[in-house]
Amino acid sequence: MAERTLFQKIMDGAIDADIVHEDEHCIAFRDINPQAPTHLLVVPRTPIPSLDEVTADDAPLIGHLFVVARKLAAQEGLSEGYRTVFNCGAHAGQSVDHLHLHLLGGRPMEWPPG
Ligand code: 5GP
Repeated sequence: MAERTLFQKIMDGAIDADIVHEDEHCIAFRDINPQAPTHLLVVPRTPIPSLDEVTADDAPLIGHLFVVARKLAAQEGLSEGYRTVFNCGAHAGQSVDHLHLHLLGGRPMEWPPG
C-alpha cells in the first residue's frame, strides 16, 4: 500500500491542523506557514499527486474544490478579493505531492507572482 501523504495524515487526525471545512470529497485547513492573513488549503480526500495527474473524470471534484474555496472566502470575510492557486511541479514550488488548492486573502496581492 502506498504511504499516506502528509495531507492524508491530517485527514486521519494523525497530524493536527486547524480544520475549517470537511465534507465527503475534501477537507480544508489553515496553512502552517501562512503567506497572507487568510491562507487555507482545500484538499481532495483522493490523493491525486498534482494538477498534472488530473483527468476528465476528476472535473466535478476540481469544480467542487473551487466552490468550497468560494464559500470559505465568504466565511473568512474576504470581501475585497482573494486568490486561488494550484502549484504544480518544481518550477511552481509544489512541496506536497497531494493536490491542494491554496486560498489566500486579507491583504492586497501583486501580479505577476514571484
Ligand atoms: P505547495 O508548496 O505544495 O503548493 O503547498 C504546500 C503547503 O502546505 C505549504 O504552503 C505549506 O506551508 C503547507 N504545509 C506543509 N506542511 C504542513 C502541515 O503539516 N500542516 C499544515 N497545516 N500545512 C502544511
